[in-house]
Amino acid sequence: MTLENEGDGALGEVCGRCERICEPGELEKCPVCRHIFCLYCVYRVGSRNYCSRACGDSFFFGDADDDEDLPED
Ligand SMILES: [Zn+2]
Ligand SMILES: [Zn+2]
Repeated sequence: MTLENEGDGALGEVCGRCERICEPGELEKCPVCRHIFCLYCVYRVGSRNYCSRACGDSFFFGDADDDEDLPED
């Protein structure tokens, strides 16, 4: 399991975390790091879904008022 699968652009059919081939409905985009993850890799905080515990915790505990300052594509 690596995170090497970056730069693929739009929502694809492969989870960026486990690289499993998924149905489009099984994939979500992490609101923190914008990585694509599947429902098997999801980390839930409250009613929101994240790609990993690190993202969920950082968003939950951080001051993420502005979500426009992530220059990552
Ligand atoms: Zn996955
Ligand atoms: Zn994330």
